Amino acid sequence: MPPTTPSPRIPRPGAPRPRAPHLRVQDPRPRTRSPHTPSPRTPSLRVRRPRLRAALLAAVSAGLVAAALPAPEPLGIGDPLYPHLGNPGYDVLAYDIALTYSGDNRKPLDALTRIDARATERLDRFNLDFSHGTVASVTVDGRPAGFTRTGEDLVIDPALPVAPGDRLTIAVTHTSDPVAAGAEGGWVRTADGLALAGQPHAAHRVFPCNDHPADKALFTFRVTAPKDLVAVANGPAVARAVAGPSATWTFRGDHPMATELAQVAIGRSAVVRHTGPHGLPLRDVVPAADRKLLEPWLRRTPGHLRWMEEKTGRYPFDTYGVLVAAASTGFQLETQTLSLFERSLFTDPELPEWYVESIMVHELAHHWFGNSVTPRSWSDLWLSEGHATWYEALHADESGHEQLERRMREAYTASDGWRAAGGPPAAPRPPATDAKTALFRPVVYDGSALVLYALRQEIGAAAFGTLQRRWTAEYAHATAGTADFVRLASAVAGRDLTGFLRGWLYGEKTPAMPGHPDWRAATPTAASSAGARPTAHGPVAGPVRAPVTGAAGG
Ligand SMILES: [Zn+2]
Repeated sequence: MPPTTPSPRIPRPGAPRPRAPHLRVQDPRPRTRSPHTPSPRTPSLRVRRPRLRAALLAAVSAGLVAAALPAPEPLGIGDPLYPHLGNPGYDVLAYDIALTYSGDNRKPLDALTRIDARATERLDRFNLDFSHGTVASVTVDGRPAGFTRTGEDLVIDPALPVAPGDRLTIAVTHTSDPVAAGAEGGWVRTADGLALAGQPHAAHRVFPCNDHPADKALFTFRVTAPKDLVAVANGPAVARAVAGPSATWTFRGDHPMATELAQVAIGRSAVVRHTGPHGLPLRDVVPAADRKLLEPWLRRTPGHLRWMEEKTGRYPFDTYGVLVAAASTGFQLETQTLSLFERSLFTDPELPEWYVESIMVHELAHHWFGNSVTPRSWSDLWLSEGHATWYEALHADESGHEQLERRMREAYTASDGWRAAGGPPAAPRPPATDAKTALFRPVVYDGSALVLYALRQEIGAAAFGTLQRRWTAEYAHATAGTADFVRLASAVAGRDLTGFLRGWLYGEKTPAMPGHPDWRAATPTAASSAGARPTAHGPVAGPVRAPVTGAAGG
Protein backbone atom coordinates (compact mmCIF):
# COMPACT_ATOMS: atom_id res chain seq x y z
CA MET A 1 0.00 0.00 0.00
CA PRO A 2 1.18 3.50 -0.67
CA PRO A 3 1.94 6.17 1.86
CA THR A 4 -1.11 8.23 2.58
CA THR A 5 -1.79 11.71 3.73
CA PRO A 6 -2.11 12.36 7.45
CA SER A 7 -5.43 11.68 9.03
CA PRO A 8 -6.46 14.15 11.69
CA ARG A 9 -9.03 11.64 12.82
CA ILE A 10 -6.59 9.02 14.04
CA PRO A 11 -7.39 8.50 17.68
CA ARG A 12 -4.54 8.47 20.12
CA PRO A 13 -4.41 5.56 22.51
CA GLY A 14 -3.66 5.81 26.17
CA ALA A 15 -5.27 9.07 27.16
CA PRO A 16 -7.64 9.08 30.14
CA ARG A 17 -11.35 9.39 29.52
CA PRO A 18 -13.15 12.28 31.12
CA ARG A 19 -16.59 11.99 32.66
CA ALA A 20 -19.06 13.32 30.21
CA PRO A 21 -21.92 15.52 31.26
CA HIS A 22 -24.41 13.82 28.98
CA LEU A 23 -24.88 11.05 26.48
CA ARG A 24 -23.98 12.74 23.21
CA VAL A 25 -20.73 14.44 24.10
CA GLN A 26 -17.85 13.13 22.05
CA ASP A 27 -14.75 12.02 23.87
CA PRO A 28 -11.89 13.91 22.23
CA ARG A 29 -9.28 11.66 23.84
CA PRO A 30 -10.22 8.13 22.91
CA ARG A 31 -8.40 5.04 24.07
CA THR A 32 -8.19 1.38 23.41
CA ARG A 33 -9.54 -1.56 25.27
CA SER A 34 -8.25 -5.02 24.60
CA PRO A 35 -10.83 -7.79 24.77
CA HIS A 36 -8.63 -9.48 27.34
CA THR A 37 -8.33 -6.44 29.54
CA PRO A 38 -11.44 -5.64 31.50
CA SER A 39 -12.38 -2.02 31.29
CA PRO A 40 -12.36 -0.31 34.64
CA ARG A 41 -15.85 0.96 34.05
CA THR A 42 -17.35 -2.37 33.10
CA PRO A 43 -18.33 -3.88 36.46
CA SER A 44 -20.20 -0.87 37.74
CA LEU A 45 -21.70 -0.23 34.33
CA ARG A 46 -23.17 -3.68 34.15
CA VAL A 47 -24.89 -3.28 37.46
CA ARG A 48 -26.00 0.29 37.02
CA ARG A 49 -26.97 0.32 33.43
CA PRO A 50 -30.66 -0.74 33.53
CA ARG A 51 -31.42 1.74 36.27
CA LEU A 52 -29.50 4.42 34.40
CA ARG A 53 -31.45 3.72 31.27
CA ALA A 54 -34.70 4.09 33.18
CA ALA A 55 -33.46 7.26 34.80
CA LEU A 56 -32.33 8.58 31.46
CA LEU A 57 -35.68 7.87 29.86
CA ALA A 58 -37.40 9.62 32.75
CA ALA A 59 -35.06 12.57 32.43
CA VAL A 60 -35.53 12.78 28.68
CA SER A 61 -39.28 12.58 29.04
CA ALA A 62 -39.06 15.39 31.55
CA GLY A 63 -37.15 17.44 29.01
CA LEU A 64 -33.91 17.18 30.94
CA VAL A 65 -30.53 15.75 30.06
CA ALA A 66 -29.35 12.88 32.19
CA ALA A 67 -25.92 13.14 33.71
CA ALA A 68 -24.84 9.60 34.47
CA LEU A 69 -23.79 7.40 31.49
CA PRO A 70 -20.09 7.33 30.71
CA ALA A 71 -19.02 8.93 27.48
CA PRO A 72 -18.91 6.74 24.40
CA GLU A 73 -15.30 5.95 23.53
CA PRO A 74 -13.50 4.41 20.56
CA LEU A 75 -12.42 0.86 21.28
CA GLY A 76 -10.11 -1.63 19.64
CA ILE A 77 -9.10 -5.25 20.04
CA GLY A 78 -5.56 -4.35 21.01
CA ASP A 79 -3.74 -4.84 17.72
CA PRO A 80 -0.14 -3.81 18.46
CA LEU A 81 0.06 -1.70 15.30
CA TYR A 82 -3.52 -0.43 14.94
CA PRO A 83 -4.92 -0.36 18.48
CA HIS A 84 -8.25 1.15 17.44
CA LEU A 85 -9.14 -1.33 14.73
CA GLY A 86 -11.80 -3.89 15.56
CA ASN A 87 -14.01 -3.91 18.61
CA PRO A 88 -14.48 -6.21 21.58
CA GLY A 89 -17.64 -8.00 22.62
CA TYR A 90 -18.91 -9.69 19.49
CA ASP A 91 -17.96 -11.87 16.55
CA VAL A 92 -19.36 -10.89 13.15
CA LEU A 93 -20.78 -13.85 11.24
CA ALA A 94 -22.03 -12.09 8.11
CA TYR A 95 -22.27 -8.70 6.42
CA ASP A 96 -24.98 -7.79 3.94
CA ILE A 97 -24.10 -4.44 2.38
CA ALA A 98 -26.43 -2.60 0.01
CA LEU A 99 -24.94 0.37 -1.85
CA THR A 100 -26.72 2.70 -4.23
CA TYR A 101 -24.49 4.61 -6.66
CA SER A 102 -25.82 7.69 -8.44
CA GLY A 103 -23.39 7.57 -11.36
CA ASP A 104 -21.33 10.47 -9.98
CA ASN A 105 -18.24 9.28 -8.10
CA ARG A 106 -18.01 12.52 -6.14
CA LYS A 107 -21.37 11.98 -4.44
CA PRO A 108 -21.99 9.88 -1.32
CA LEU A 109 -23.60 6.51 -1.93
CA ASP A 110 -26.73 5.59 0.01
CA ALA A 111 -26.16 2.43 1.99
CA LEU A 112 -27.71 -0.10 4.31
CA THR A 113 -25.28 -2.36 6.15
CA ARG A 114 -26.73 -5.34 7.99
CA ILE A 115 -24.46 -7.26 10.34
CA ASP A 116 -25.23 -10.64 11.89
CA ALA A 117 -23.07 -11.19 14.94
CA ARG A 118 -22.79 -13.26 18.08
CA ALA A 119 -22.15 -11.53 21.39
CA THR A 120 -19.08 -12.82 23.22
CA GLU A 121 -19.96 -10.85 26.35
CA ARG A 122 -22.97 -8.98 27.66
CA LEU A 123 -23.52 -5.94 25.45
CA ASP A 124 -25.14 -2.89 26.97
CA ARG A 125 -23.27 -0.85 24.40
CA PHE A 126 -20.91 -1.82 21.59
CA ASN A 127 -18.87 -0.18 18.85
CA LEU A 128 -18.48 -0.57 15.12
CA ASP A 129 -15.67 1.01 13.15
CA PHE A 130 -17.05 3.62 10.74
CA SER A 131 -16.07 7.01 9.38
CA HIS A 132 -16.59 8.92 6.12
CA GLY A 133 -20.37 8.84 5.97
CA THR A 134 -23.41 10.06 7.84
CA VAL A 135 -25.56 7.68 9.87
CA ALA A 136 -29.33 8.13 9.67
CA SER A 137 -30.52 5.30 11.88
CA VAL A 138 -29.46 2.12 13.65
CA THR A 139 -31.55 -0.84 14.71
CA VAL A 140 -30.54 -3.87 16.76
CA ASP A 141 -32.80 -6.90 16.27
CA GLY A 142 -35.32 -4.62 14.62
CA ARG A 143 -35.58 -2.16 17.52
CA PRO A 144 -34.35 1.43 17.11
CA ALA A 145 -31.04 1.87 18.91
CA GLY A 146 -29.21 4.92 20.18
CA PHE A 147 -25.95 5.80 18.49
CA THR A 148 -23.20 8.37 18.52
CA ARG A 149 -19.88 8.93 16.75
CA THR A 150 -16.51 9.19 18.42
CA GLY A 151 -13.08 8.93 16.83
CA GLU A 152 -13.56 6.49 13.93
CA ASP A 153 -16.17 4.49 15.87
CA LEU A 154 -19.94 4.30 15.76
CA VAL A 155 -21.10 3.61 19.31
CA ILE A 156 -24.43 1.80 19.56
CA ASP A 157 -26.78 1.56 22.53
CA PRO A 158 -29.27 -1.25 21.87
CA ALA A 159 -32.74 -0.85 23.34
CA LEU A 160 -32.22 -4.10 25.24
CA PRO A 161 -28.91 -5.52 26.44
CA VAL A 162 -27.62 -8.54 24.51
CA ALA A 163 -26.69 -11.62 26.54
CA PRO A 164 -23.37 -13.43 25.99
CA GLY A 165 -23.71 -16.03 23.25
CA ASP A 166 -26.85 -14.44 21.77
CA ARG A 167 -27.10 -13.62 18.09
CA LEU A 168 -27.84 -10.03 17.14
CA THR A 169 -28.65 -8.29 13.88
CA ILE A 170 -27.45 -4.72 13.50
CA ALA A 171 -28.78 -2.57 10.66
CA VAL A 172 -27.16 0.77 9.91
CA THR A 173 -28.68 3.15 7.38
CA HIS A 174 -25.90 5.45 6.25
CA THR A 175 -24.07 7.14 3.42
CA SER A 176 -20.61 6.23 2.15
CA ASP A 177 -18.61 9.21 0.99
CA PRO A 178 -15.97 8.56 -1.66
CA VAL A 179 -14.67 12.12 -1.64
CA ALA A 180 -14.03 12.30 2.08
CA ALA A 181 -12.05 9.07 1.77
CA GLY A 182 -9.62 10.90 -0.49
CA ALA A 183 -6.08 9.64 -0.53
CA GLU A 184 -6.46 7.77 2.72
CA GLY A 185 -7.86 4.65 1.13
CA GLY A 186 -11.29 3.13 1.15
CA TRP A 187 -13.04 4.21 -2.01
CA VAL A 188 -10.72 4.80 -4.95
CA ARG A 189 -12.20 7.13 -7.56
CA THR A 190 -11.42 5.80 -11.02
CA ALA A 191 -11.79 7.46 -14.42
CA ASP A 192 -15.22 5.87 -14.83
CA GLY A 193 -16.47 5.11 -11.33
CA LEU A 194 -15.22 3.59 -8.10
CA ALA A 195 -13.19 0.71 -6.74
CA LEU A 196 -12.29 -0.27 -3.21
CA ALA A 197 -8.92 -0.54 -1.46
CA GLY A 198 -9.37 -1.10 2.26
CA GLN A 199 -6.02 -2.48 3.38
CA PRO A 200 -5.06 -2.24 6.14
CA HIS A 201 -7.45 0.10 7.96
CA ALA A 202 -9.80 1.70 5.46
CA ALA A 203 -12.76 -0.66 4.97
CA HIS A 204 -14.55 1.19 7.76
CA ARG A 205 -14.27 4.39 5.74
CA VAL A 206 -16.75 2.72 3.39
CA PHE A 207 -19.09 0.64 5.57
CA PRO A 208 -19.60 0.05 9.31
CA CYS A 209 -17.74 -3.08 10.37
CA ASN A 210 -15.49 -4.83 12.84
CA ASP A 211 -12.46 -3.71 10.87
CA HIS A 212 -9.80 -6.22 11.83
CA PRO A 213 -8.63 -9.35 9.98
CA ALA A 214 -9.03 -11.41 13.17
CA ASP A 215 -12.82 -11.24 12.64
CA LYS A 216 -13.46 -12.74 9.21
CA ALA A 217 -17.08 -13.09 8.09
CA LEU A 218 -19.23 -13.96 5.10
CA PHE A 219 -20.13 -11.08 2.78
CA THR A 220 -23.07 -10.29 0.52
CA PHE A 221 -22.99 -7.11 -1.58
CA ARG A 222 -26.04 -5.63 -3.32
CA VAL A 223 -24.97 -2.84 -5.61
CA THR A 224 -27.51 -0.63 -7.34
CA ALA A 225 -26.19 1.56 -10.15
CA PRO A 226 -27.32 3.09 -13.44
CA LYS A 227 -27.95 0.08 -15.66
CA ASP A 228 -25.48 1.17 -18.34
CA LEU A 229 -22.68 0.69 -15.83
CA VAL A 230 -21.25 -2.59 -14.54
CA ALA A 231 -20.92 -3.41 -10.86
CA VAL A 232 -18.75 -6.18 -9.43
CA ALA A 233 -17.84 -7.28 -5.93
CA ASN A 234 -16.08 -10.17 -4.19
CA GLY A 235 -17.55 -13.55 -4.97
CA PRO A 236 -19.72 -14.75 -7.81
CA ALA A 237 -22.73 -12.72 -8.98
CA VAL A 238 -25.88 -14.47 -7.83
CA ALA A 239 -28.47 -12.06 -9.26
CA ARG A 240 -29.03 -9.01 -11.43
CA ALA A 241 -32.36 -7.23 -11.46
CA VAL A 242 -33.28 -4.20 -13.57
CA ALA A 243 -35.79 -1.65 -12.30
CA GLY A 244 -36.31 1.45 -14.43
CA PRO A 245 -32.98 3.18 -15.07
CA SER A 246 -31.11 1.13 -12.46
CA ALA A 247 -29.82 -2.38 -12.03
CA THR A 248 -29.04 -4.20 -8.80
CA TRP A 249 -26.30 -6.82 -8.75
CA THR A 250 -25.96 -9.26 -5.87
CA PHE A 251 -22.65 -10.96 -5.05
CA ARG A 252 -22.07 -13.54 -2.37
CA GLY A 253 -18.72 -15.00 -1.34
CA ASP A 254 -18.76 -18.62 -0.21
CA HIS A 255 -15.85 -18.23 2.18
CA PRO A 256 -15.14 -15.91 5.09
CA MET A 257 -13.28 -12.71 4.28
CA ALA A 258 -11.38 -10.05 6.20
CA THR A 259 -12.88 -6.56 5.87
CA GLU A 260 -9.61 -5.22 4.39
CA LEU A 261 -10.11 -7.51 1.36
CA ALA A 262 -13.56 -6.24 0.37
CA GLN A 263 -13.98 -5.14 -3.23
CA VAL A 264 -16.81 -3.23 -4.89
CA ALA A 265 -16.11 -1.72 -8.30
CA ILE A 266 -18.49 0.21 -10.51
CA GLY A 267 -17.68 1.59 -13.93
CA ARG A 268 -17.86 1.35 -17.70
CA SER A 269 -16.40 -2.11 -17.54
CA ALA A 270 -16.23 -5.26 -19.58
CA VAL A 271 -16.50 -8.57 -17.74
CA VAL A 272 -14.28 -11.13 -19.44
CA ARG A 273 -14.78 -14.79 -18.61
CA HIS A 274 -12.23 -17.58 -18.90
CA THR A 275 -11.85 -20.99 -17.36
CA GLY A 276 -8.98 -21.95 -15.09
CA PRO A 277 -7.68 -25.30 -13.82
CA HIS A 278 -10.37 -27.86 -12.88
CA GLY A 279 -13.01 -25.67 -14.54
CA LEU A 280 -12.44 -22.76 -12.12
CA PRO A 281 -14.54 -19.82 -13.36
CA LEU A 282 -12.34 -16.79 -14.03
CA ARG A 283 -13.91 -13.35 -14.13
CA ASP A 284 -11.78 -10.39 -15.19
CA VAL A 285 -13.11 -6.85 -15.07
CA VAL A 286 -11.45 -4.21 -17.23
CA PRO A 287 -12.31 -0.78 -18.60
CA ALA A 288 -14.50 -1.64 -21.61
CA ALA A 289 -12.37 0.45 -23.97
CA ASP A 290 -9.24 -1.51 -22.97
CA ARG A 291 -10.58 -5.00 -23.40
CA LYS A 292 -8.58 -5.87 -26.54
CA LEU A 293 -5.43 -4.30 -25.15
CA LEU A 294 -5.64 -6.24 -21.90
CA GLU A 295 -6.86 -9.64 -23.12
CA PRO A 296 -3.33 -11.01 -23.68
CA TRP A 297 -2.56 -10.34 -20.01
CA LEU A 298 -5.82 -11.86 -18.81
CA ARG A 299 -5.00 -15.07 -20.66
CA ARG A 300 -1.93 -15.57 -18.44
CA THR A 301 -3.96 -16.21 -15.30
CA PRO A 302 -4.71 -19.93 -15.91
CA GLY A 303 -0.97 -20.58 -16.24
CA HIS A 304 -0.29 -18.65 -13.02
CA LEU A 305 -2.95 -20.69 -11.24
CA ARG A 306 -1.47 -23.99 -12.43
CA TRP A 307 1.99 -22.87 -11.36
CA MET A 308 0.78 -21.84 -7.87
CA GLU A 309 -1.24 -25.04 -7.43
CA GLU A 310 1.90 -27.09 -8.09
CA LYS A 311 3.56 -25.32 -5.16
CA THR A 312 0.73 -24.88 -2.68
CA GLY A 313 -2.22 -27.09 -3.58
CA ARG A 314 -5.68 -26.30 -4.86
CA TYR A 315 -6.75 -22.64 -5.27
CA PRO A 316 -8.88 -21.96 -2.18
CA PHE A 317 -11.79 -19.95 -3.63
CA ASP A 318 -14.63 -20.49 -6.13
CA THR A 319 -13.59 -17.83 -8.61
CA TYR A 320 -10.64 -15.59 -9.43
CA GLY A 321 -10.10 -12.58 -11.60
CA VAL A 322 -8.09 -9.49 -12.40
CA LEU A 323 -9.76 -6.12 -11.83
CA VAL A 324 -8.04 -3.38 -13.80
CA ALA A 325 -8.79 0.14 -12.59
CA ALA A 326 -8.08 3.35 -14.44
CA ALA A 327 -6.72 5.05 -11.34
CA SER A 328 -3.43 6.24 -9.96
CA THR A 329 -3.32 4.39 -6.69
CA GLY A 330 0.36 3.49 -6.76
CA PHE A 331 -0.33 -0.10 -5.72
CA GLN A 332 -1.97 -3.42 -6.52
CA LEU A 333 -4.16 -5.14 -3.94
CA GLU A 334 -5.26 -8.74 -3.43
CA THR A 335 -8.97 -8.02 -2.84
CA GLN A 336 -10.56 -11.42 -2.41
CA THR A 337 -11.29 -13.34 -5.64
CA LEU A 338 -10.80 -10.13 -7.65
CA SER A 339 -7.31 -8.64 -7.38
CA LEU A 340 -7.13 -4.91 -8.00
CA PHE A 341 -4.46 -3.74 -10.48
CA GLU A 342 -3.61 -0.31 -11.71
CA ARG A 343 -4.08 0.01 -15.48
CA SER A 344 -0.57 1.41 -15.92
CA LEU A 345 0.99 -1.88 -14.79
CA PHE A 346 -0.16 -3.38 -18.09
CA THR A 347 0.31 -0.37 -20.34
CA ASP A 348 3.70 1.02 -19.28
CA PRO A 349 6.04 -0.02 -22.12
CA GLU A 350 9.05 0.19 -19.83
CA LEU A 351 7.89 -2.67 -17.62
CA PRO A 352 9.17 -6.06 -18.85
CA GLU A 353 6.56 -8.77 -19.32
CA TRP A 354 8.19 -11.11 -16.82
CA TYR A 355 8.03 -8.41 -14.19
CA VAL A 356 4.33 -7.70 -14.80
CA GLU A 357 3.65 -11.44 -14.57
CA SER A 358 5.56 -11.71 -11.30
CA ILE A 359 3.35 -8.97 -9.85
CA MET A 360 0.22 -10.78 -11.10
CA VAL A 361 1.55 -13.90 -9.34
CA HIS A 362 2.18 -11.87 -6.16
CA GLU A 363 -1.50 -10.88 -5.88
CA LEU A 364 -2.66 -14.38 -6.83
CA ALA A 365 -0.35 -15.94 -4.20
CA HIS A 366 -2.04 -13.76 -1.58
CA HIS A 367 -5.19 -15.80 -2.13
CA TRP A 368 -3.43 -18.63 -0.28
CA PHE A 369 -1.31 -16.36 1.94
CA GLY A 370 -3.34 -13.52 3.40
CA ASN A 371 -6.82 -14.16 2.03
CA SER A 372 -7.42 -17.82 2.87
CA VAL A 373 -4.86 -17.98 5.69
CA THR A 374 -5.29 -14.51 7.17
CA PRO A 375 -2.82 -12.87 9.58
CA ARG A 376 -4.27 -12.77 13.07
CA SER A 377 -2.75 -9.39 13.82
CA TRP A 378 -1.06 -6.78 11.65
CA SER A 379 2.29 -7.78 13.20
CA ASP A 380 1.80 -11.10 11.38
CA LEU A 381 1.74 -9.27 8.04
CA TRP A 382 5.10 -10.83 7.11
CA LEU A 383 3.30 -14.18 6.70
CA SER A 384 1.19 -12.61 3.98
CA GLU A 385 3.64 -10.27 2.21
CA GLY A 386 6.69 -12.48 2.74
CA HIS A 387 5.01 -15.43 1.04
CA ALA A 388 3.52 -13.33 -1.77
CA THR A 389 6.97 -11.86 -2.43
CA TRP A 390 8.48 -15.35 -2.26
CA TYR A 391 6.24 -16.61 -5.07
CA GLU A 392 6.70 -13.37 -7.03
CA ALA A 393 10.47 -13.91 -6.87
CA LEU A 394 10.25 -17.64 -7.50
CA HIS A 395 8.13 -17.06 -10.61
CA ALA A 396 10.68 -14.58 -11.94
CA ASP A 397 13.40 -17.15 -11.25
CA GLU A 398 11.63 -20.13 -12.83
CA SER A 399 10.70 -18.11 -15.91
CA GLY A 400 14.45 -17.51 -16.31
CA HIS A 401 14.49 -13.77 -15.75
CA GLU A 402 15.78 -13.06 -12.29
CA GLN A 403 17.70 -15.48 -10.13
CA LEU A 404 16.10 -16.04 -6.76
CA GLU A 405 19.49 -16.52 -5.13
CA ARG A 406 20.78 -13.24 -6.46
CA ARG A 407 17.67 -11.39 -5.31
CA MET A 408 17.93 -12.99 -1.87
CA ARG A 409 21.62 -12.14 -1.61
CA GLU A 410 20.81 -8.52 -2.36
CA ALA A 411 17.99 -8.61 0.19
CA TYR A 412 20.48 -10.02 2.69
CA THR A 413 22.83 -7.13 2.05
CA ALA A 414 20.02 -4.64 2.68
CA SER A 415 18.31 -6.56 5.49
CA ASP A 416 19.94 -4.92 8.52
CA GLY A 417 19.05 -1.53 7.07
CA TRP A 418 15.45 -2.58 6.51
CA ARG A 419 15.24 -3.92 10.08
CA ALA A 420 16.70 -0.67 11.41
CA ALA A 421 14.12 1.32 9.45
CA GLY A 422 11.01 -0.77 9.99
CA GLY A 423 11.68 -3.21 12.80
CA PRO A 424 12.20 -6.97 12.39
CA PRO A 425 9.82 -8.95 10.12
CA ALA A 426 7.48 -10.29 12.81
CA ALA A 427 7.55 -7.22 15.05
CA PRO A 428 7.32 -4.29 12.67
CA ARG A 429 7.54 -0.86 14.19
CA PRO A 430 4.13 0.83 14.48
CA PRO A 431 3.47 3.10 11.54
CA ALA A 432 3.70 6.77 12.40
CA THR A 433 0.29 8.30 12.92
CA ASP A 434 0.90 10.61 9.99
CA ALA A 435 1.59 7.70 7.62
CA LYS A 436 -0.40 4.69 8.67
CA THR A 437 0.30 2.65 5.58
CA ALA A 438 4.02 3.00 6.14
CA LEU A 439 3.56 -0.48 7.57
CA PHE A 440 4.19 -1.70 4.02
CA ARG A 441 7.96 -1.34 4.19
CA PRO A 442 10.70 -3.38 2.50
CA VAL A 443 11.13 -5.51 5.63
CA VAL A 444 7.69 -7.11 5.11
CA TYR A 445 8.38 -7.79 1.41
CA ASP A 446 11.88 -8.93 0.43
CA GLY A 447 12.99 -8.69 4.07
CA SER A 448 10.42 -11.38 4.94
CA ALA A 449 10.87 -13.46 1.77
CA LEU A 450 14.48 -13.65 3.00
CA VAL A 451 13.23 -15.35 6.19
CA LEU A 452 11.52 -17.99 4.05
CA TYR A 453 14.69 -18.44 2.00
CA ALA A 454 16.68 -18.96 5.23
CA LEU A 455 14.11 -21.50 6.41
CA ARG A 456 14.32 -23.40 3.12
CA GLN A 457 18.12 -23.39 3.37
CA GLU A 458 17.82 -24.75 6.92
CA ILE A 459 15.20 -27.51 6.46
CA GLY A 460 15.65 -28.31 2.77
CA ALA A 461 13.42 -27.76 -0.25
CA ALA A 462 11.32 -30.90 0.29
CA ALA A 463 10.36 -30.05 3.88
CA PHE A 464 9.81 -26.42 2.89
CA GLY A 465 7.38 -27.50 0.16
CA THR A 466 5.52 -29.72 2.63
CA LEU A 467 5.30 -26.82 5.07
CA GLN A 468 3.80 -24.56 2.40
CA ARG A 469 1.11 -27.12 1.55
CA ARG A 470 0.30 -27.95 5.15
CA TRP A 471 0.15 -24.29 6.17
CA THR A 472 -2.35 -23.41 3.45
CA ALA A 473 -4.39 -26.60 4.06
CA GLU A 474 -4.50 -26.65 7.85
CA TYR A 475 -5.32 -22.95 8.25
CA ALA A 476 -7.47 -22.57 5.14
CA HIS A 477 -10.16 -19.87 5.52
CA ALA A 478 -9.00 -19.17 9.08
CA THR A 479 -6.61 -16.80 10.80
CA ALA A 480 -3.12 -17.74 11.92
CA GLY A 481 -0.19 -16.02 13.55
CA THR A 482 3.58 -16.22 13.67
CA ALA A 483 3.60 -18.72 16.57
CA ASP A 484 1.38 -21.07 14.52
CA PHE A 485 3.88 -20.90 11.66
CA VAL A 486 6.86 -21.61 13.89
CA ARG A 487 4.99 -24.54 15.46
CA LEU A 488 4.07 -26.06 12.09
CA ALA A 489 7.55 -25.51 10.64
CA SER A 490 8.99 -27.35 13.65
CA ALA A 491 6.51 -30.21 13.23
CA VAL A 492 7.33 -30.57 9.53
CA ALA A 493 11.09 -30.39 10.13
CA GLY A 494 10.88 -32.84 13.03
CA ARG A 495 12.82 -30.52 15.34
CA ASP A 496 12.21 -27.36 17.30
CA LEU A 497 12.90 -24.36 15.06
CA THR A 498 11.95 -21.76 17.68
CA GLY A 499 15.56 -20.83 18.33
CA PHE A 500 16.49 -20.73 14.67
CA LEU A 501 13.52 -18.58 13.67
CA ARG A 502 13.69 -16.23 16.66
CA GLY A 503 16.62 -14.27 15.25
CA TRP A 504 15.19 -14.28 11.73
CA LEU A 505 11.79 -13.04 12.88
CA TYR A 506 12.60 -10.84 15.83
CA GLY A 507 16.30 -9.97 15.67
CA GLU A 508 17.60 -6.46 15.22
CA LYS A 509 20.42 -7.97 13.13
CA THR A 510 19.99 -10.50 10.34
CA PRO A 511 21.34 -13.93 11.39
CA ALA A 512 23.95 -15.79 9.33
CA MET A 513 22.44 -17.35 6.19
CA PRO A 514 22.59 -21.17 6.26
CA GLY A 515 24.67 -22.41 3.33
CA HIS A 516 26.01 -18.94 2.52
CA PRO A 517 28.53 -18.08 5.24
CA ASP A 518 30.03 -15.46 2.94
CA TRP A 519 26.86 -13.32 2.78
CA ARG A 520 27.22 -10.06 4.66
CA ALA A 521 24.60 -7.53 5.66
CA ALA A 522 25.61 -3.94 5.04
CA THR A 523 25.76 -1.66 8.05
CA PRO A 524 22.55 0.36 8.13
CA THR A 525 22.87 3.89 6.90
CA ALA A 526 20.17 6.43 6.27
CA ALA A 527 20.40 5.64 2.56
CA SER A 528 20.26 1.85 2.91
CA SER A 529 17.36 2.04 5.34
CA ALA A 530 15.33 4.21 3.04
CA GLY A 531 16.20 2.32 -0.12
CA ALA A 532 13.85 -0.41 -1.16
CA ARG A 533 13.21 -2.83 -3.90
CA PRO A 534 9.99 -1.82 -5.57
CA THR A 535 7.17 -3.95 -4.30
CA ALA A 536 3.83 -5.11 -5.48
CA HIS A 537 2.34 -2.39 -3.35
CA GLY A 538 4.75 0.26 -4.53
CA PRO A 539 4.37 2.67 -7.39
CA VAL A 540 4.35 0.95 -10.74
CA ALA A 541 5.45 3.86 -12.87
CA GLY A 542 9.06 4.66 -13.59
CA PRO A 543 11.70 3.32 -15.89
CA VAL A 544 14.03 1.70 -13.36
CA ARG A 545 11.45 -0.16 -11.37
CA ALA A 546 11.16 -3.55 -12.86
CA PRO A 547 14.64 -4.91 -13.34
CA VAL A 548 16.02 -3.24 -10.25
CA THR A 549 16.88 -5.55 -7.41
CA GLY A 550 18.00 -5.09 -3.85
CA ALA A 551 18.26 -1.77 -2.18
CA ALA A 552 18.77 0.44 -5.17
CA GLY A 553 15.22 0.90 -6.35
CA GLY A 554 12.60 3.42 -5.55
ZN1 LIG B 1 1.32 -8.08 -1.29
